Amino acid sequence: MPRSFVGEARRRVAPKRTRIRPIVDLLAIEHEDAAIALTFASPLELLVSVMLSAQTTDVNVNRVTATLFEKYRRPEDYLAVAPEELERDIYATGFFRQKTRSLRGTMHMLLTEFDGQVPTKLEELVRLPGVARKTANVVAAELGTPQGIVVDTHVRRLSQRLGFTRQDDPVKIERDLVRLVPHPDWGRFPHLLIWHGRRVCSARAPRCEDCVVSALCPSSRV
Ligand code: SF4
Repeated sequence: MPRSFVGEARRRVAPKRTRIRPIVDLLAIEHEDAAIALTFASPLELLVSVMLSAQTTDVNVNRVTATLFEKYRRPEDYLAVAPEELERDIYATGFFRQKTRSLRGTMHMLLTEFDGQVPTKLEELVRLPGVARKTANVVAAELGTPQGIVVDTHVRRLSQRLGFTRQDDPVKIERDLVRLVPHPDWGRFPHLLIWHGRRVCSARAPRCEDCVVSALCPSSRV
């Protein structure tokens, strides 16, 4: 069995509860521009953007929504056109049939159960068709009411390398992170790990020699 990078960790560092504060602070200085890369101007645009971002890049979503949001301004607008028209309008984001079904179902529920407004509670967001926990967490955090921690592939990898979790399942990783990360940092924490993962701690070739948290990381190779 190939040895994993995490499995190679040998360096002794302080307990994670001692390291979490300086790690968050150092990453916040290093990646002060770390933020969601989707472009939106309202909670509805945020929700739609995050739903469209499944299986594609944020750049691609922004390209599509630049014109989409001119045409679809309210939940009603998504239901006023034929599904085929909405499919064409979001085609470039991929999985357009499934996403159209989710968008139409979500808009219908927003109108019938939430007065046309995007809810901020996680348990309400996850009831919207096609809105999984990760999407709900992103939306809640961006609306200023984080109720969990977004776990994507970067957050998973870095949380493991930094010794914040031994889990592999995103739900279990999130459970470990919400116990560890101070609540005021829940919103920005995933952005910091995502940007650090993209810029420094990549999956294949982590640049530990250029990493601001290498002295606090049990997986550091320097
Ligand atoms: S790049 Fe930094 S966070 Fe990633 S393994 Fe190396 S020291 Fe740890």
